Amino acid sequence: MFFKNKYCPGCKKYNQVYRMLDAGERAKAKEKHCGRTDLWRCTAEGCRWYQPVHNQGDGDLLPEELRIPAADPNE
Ligand SMILES: [Zn+2]
Repeated sequence: MFFKNKYCPGCKKYNQVYRMLDAGERAKAKEKHCGRTDLWRCTAEGCRWYQPVHNQGDGDLLPEELRIPAADPNE
């Protein structure tokens, strides 16, 4: 399941694609979001932004290790 065509404050761009956080990502979300299952993240390269599905103002950044990696040019 994806969101499409949504603004991302992390990228500062419109039309970004979001997907739900996986279990590992949810475990690393901020304490204020603990236990929530309606969290989505931007899938753009280099981005760490996530947010509750309908509340962009309550979003935040995931830890550095969950940054979306650049595509491997050898693949
Ligand atoms: Zn983003």
